[in-house]
Amino acid sequence: MKKKPAALVAVYRLLDWSDRDKCLLLSVLLWGYMSFVFLWHLFTIHLTEFADRFVSTEGAEVMTQVMLFNQAGWLVLVVWGMLLRRTQRHSVLYPPFFMSFFSVAFLLLGWTFGLYSPMTGMVLVGAPLVGFILFGFQRVAWNFAFTVLVVLLLAWLSVQGYSVHAIYFIKYPISQELLSYYWIGSTVAFMAPFITVVIVLVALLLGRWVRREAQVRDQALHDPLTGLANRRELFSRFGFELARARRNGQPLSVCLLDLDHFKRINDTHGHAVGDEVLVRVAEVLRGCLRETDTVGRIGGEEFVLLLPETDHAGAARGIERCRTTIERSPVSLACGELLSFSASFGVVLWQADDEADEHALIARADEMLYRAKTAGRNRVEFWSDPAVAPC
Ligand code: GH3
Ligand code: MG
Ligand code: MG
Repeated sequence: MKKKPAALVAVYRLLDWSDRDKCLLLSVLLWGYMSFVFLWHLFTIHLTEFADRFVSTEGAEVMTQVMLFNQAGWLVLVVWGMLLRRTQRHSVLYPPFFMSFFSVAFLLLGWTFGLYSPMTGMVLVGAPLVGFILFGFQRVAWNFAFTVLVVLLLAWLSVQGYSVHAIYFIKYPISQELLSYYWIGSTVAFMAPFITVVIVLVALLLGRWVRREAQVRDQALHDPLTGLANRRELFSRFGFELARARRNGQPLSVCLLDLDHFKRINDTHGHAVGDEVLVRVAEVLRGCLRETDTVGRIGGEEFVLLLPETDHAGAARGIERCRTTIERSPVSLACGELLSFSASFGVVLWQADDEADEHALIARADEMLYRAKTAGRNRVEFWSDPAVAPC
C-alpha cells in the first residue's frame, strides 16, 4: 500500500492530538488569518476608493488597535504553546485562555465589521462547531454562551441608538441602495479559510466515525487471534446458510474440528507457540476451502467449517485435504526444530427434509468428533456414513 506523507497522517490524527497541540495549531492558523485581515485593512484604508466611500476614520483607527491586539494575543498563544511543547508540559490554563481569547478577538472583529455581516454569523455557527468537534461540548459551552450574550447585548445597544454596530463603516457597504463588490469579494475571502477548516474537521470526524464503526463491527464478529468468524458470527452465517440450503434444496456440510493434544503443545512449548499453531490452522483452513465456505473459531482450539452446496463426496475430499495439510504444516520452534500437529474432524451432512437446526447439527458433528478422538485422532468421521448414522 502507498505510504501517506507524515504531515497528512498527522492531520488525519488531529482529533487525537492533545488539547495543547490543537490550541497551538489553531493559534498559528488564527495568527495567520488575523495577519491576512490586518493586511487587508491596511491595503483598504491606504490604497482603495472603497475606504473613501465607506470607511470611517475613527473606525479605521479602532480596527488598527483591534488588529494589533489580535496579533499580539495570538502571538502570545503561539509562543506559549511552543514553549509548553518544547518542555513537554501541559497547562490547564492554556486551552481555556485560548478559547476565551478566541471569543474576545472575534467579538471585537464583529463589533467593528458589524454583527449582521455574514462573517459574524459564520463565526458564530462555525466556531462552536469546530470547538465541539475538537474539545467536546462542555469545554466550549461557556464561551459560546458568553459570546452569544455579548452579541445580543451589542445588538440591543445598537437598537437603543448607541453607535456599537459596524463602527468600521460610515455606511454599510451592502444595503438596499448600495452594493460594493469590493466588500462582497473581501467577505468571501474572509470566509473561505474558515469554511475550509470547518469542512476539513467535519470530514475528519465523519471519516473517523465510519472507521471506528467498521473496526467495532469487525471486533464484534471476528476472533482477534486468527481473524476467523467468532461464535456469534459463525452462528449467524450458519442460520443464513441453513435457510438458503432449505430454500434451494441443496446439501450443506457442517464440520467440527478440534486440535489433537493441544494442551500438551501448550504445556511443553508455551502458550505463544500454542497461539502460533492456532493461527497456522486458521490459515490452512482458509487456504484449503472455497471462498463461499465459512470457517469459524468457536472455542479454544475448536473450529467449525460450513460447506454450502457440498455433498458427502465433496465434503470428504475438502475435509481430508484440510486434515492432511494441517498434518503437513508444522510451525518452527525457537530452537529451530519443527513442531507438527494434527486435528480430528466430525462431519454431518444436512440434506433437504432434515428438520435439524444449527445447534442440533453441531451436536451431531460433536458426537462424530468424539468418535474420531476415541478412534485414535487425526481422522475424519461422518454422521451420514450409513454405518454410523442412526435410523
Ligand atoms: P484432545 O486431543 O482430546 O482434544 O486434547 P486437547 O489437549 O487438545 O484438549 P483439551 O480440551 O484438554 O485442551 C484444550 C487446550 O486448549 C486447553 C487450553 O489451555 C488451550 N487453549 C484454549 N484456548 C487457547 C488459546 O487461545 N491459545 C492457546 N495457546 N491455548 C488455548
Ligand atoms: Mg483438542
Ligand atoms: Mg477442545
